[in-house]
Amino acid sequence: MRLVDLRFAGWQLEPIPEAPARYYGKCRSCGERSPHAALVGQGQLWCLRHTDATGHAEYEIFESQEFNATVPADSTPATT
Ligand SMILES: [Zn+2]
Repeated sequence: MRLVDLRFAGWQLEPIPEAPARYYGKCRSCGERSPHAALVGQGQLWCLRHTDATGHAEYEIFESQEFNATVPADSTPATT
């Protein structure tokens, strides 16, 4: 996942380098989720195995990315 270069009120989002993107599949029939995996194919394989075990056939694949909100060197966060 690539974050959009977005700033708001003096803050920006920075991906955590040591926490790469992770993927998981979710069954839309029962809500069961696969374990988080490093490769999207691992989430997809879980979906196929879940179909074989349950007959459920509708899924979503999610990608997650951990990040921090930081203050860019050329900015200061707004105060309220
Ligand atoms: Zn299911």
